Amino acid sequence: MAYFGINKFWVCAVTDKLLKWIRPEIRQLDAYHVPDASGLTKMDAMENPYTLDQVSGHWAQVLASAEINRYPDPSAAELRKKLSEVMAVPEGAACMLGNGSDELIQMLAMAVSGQDQKGRNRRILSFEPGFVMYRMICNFVGMDYVGVPLNNVFELDMKATRTAIEKHNPAIIFIAYPNNPTGNLFDESDIEEIIRIAPGLVVLDEAYHPFAQRSFMPMLTRYEQLLVMRTVSKMGLAGLRLGMLAGNADLIREIDKVRLPYNINVLTQKVASFALEQVNVLDEQAATIRAERERMLERMGDMDEIEVFPSQANFILFRIKQGDATAVFESIRADGVLIKNLKAETGPLRQCLRVTVGTPDENSSFIAALKKALI
Ligand SMILES: *Cc1c(COP(=O)(O)O)cnc(C)c1O
Repeated sequence: MAYFGINKFWVCAVTDKLLKWIRPEIRQLDAYHVPDASGLTKMDAMENPYTLDQVSGHWAQVLASAEINRYPDPSAAELRKKLSEVMAVPEGAACMLGNGSDELIQMLAMAVSGQDQKGRNRRILSFEPGFVMYRMICNFVGMDYVGVPLNNVFELDMKATRTAIEKHNPAIIFIAYPNNPTGNLFDESDIEEIIRIAPGLVVLDEAYHPFAQRSFMPMLTRYEQLLVMRTVSKMGLAGLRLGMLAGNADLIREIDKVRLPYNINVLTQKVASFALEQVNVLDEQAATIRAERERMLERMGDMDEIEVFPSQANFILFRIKQGDATAVFESIRADGVLIKNLKAETGPLRQCLRVTVGTPDENSSFIAALKKALI
């Protein structure tokens, strides 16, 4: 063992004594890893490749009017009103904002965490493969996670779902619509059945709504246990960190109590309000991305070496039928394009990669790099 010197040795010993205070389930976790993308074309994180060039001349003016010496409006009333309009929150429903929808997931979990009547941790239920933050946040707040496997075409397995709901009595069921990382929309009547049989809250996470254009938002008035979550991240404003949760006003009022008072900062409130006035520009970008997704699905569908899964989102999941997905991923990266390696050797995502739809040029570069990697 190397000799670190007295001071360093002392620091190490104390650190160990302190680390035992960190909850074991936290120490077991791997930190959420974001790969370095410098010098690469970024097609790994479902970002919109387009900027708001049409309005960038106005940013300075918008920012100049921001009072950064003052705390922001704690309820972000103006922005909330705008988002409700743009995202068509029905009359009678309420909404609250989060620092990204990730924070909304965290607030939901914090609001329901604790023990049930039998003294067991309460449960969050979702579907696998699915969005990793549900499981991670569930762990952060000391709840238990139940991941119900999707069937072999990544649809809801309703028999398994009914059994799991019955057995685990989940406080919240999260349904990503479309699902990430698979990209598909689950069957609408299956989802409605889950809403009806759920003992607790059901959150429809519609992060990819601009690319799927299907929504449970109109159903908020029909089901009081239903909450619909949206984000501006995938529609082109990921850097702002802004998400919205809409639902029954009594429920929203309770969940809003765990929100830190100034979670949406002054600059985000200003810039998002302004950007949402240009929502037609964002809509046009989404339309271009949808058209490019179809082109990519077609081009990729012609390649015999891969299995391409249907997508209603701004990304495409595909499997390398024979050979090593990591080798393909690295070959594509060596050609300057960063996609997502799902790093599964076995299971439903075995040998799968995920690419985010970019600009037409970026997509063509990716297709060329993929073809080359598959030779
Ligand atoms: C990307 C994503 C989010 C996170 O959105 P943010 O608003 O950026 O925190 C939420 N849910 C799903 C399913 C996602 O893929």
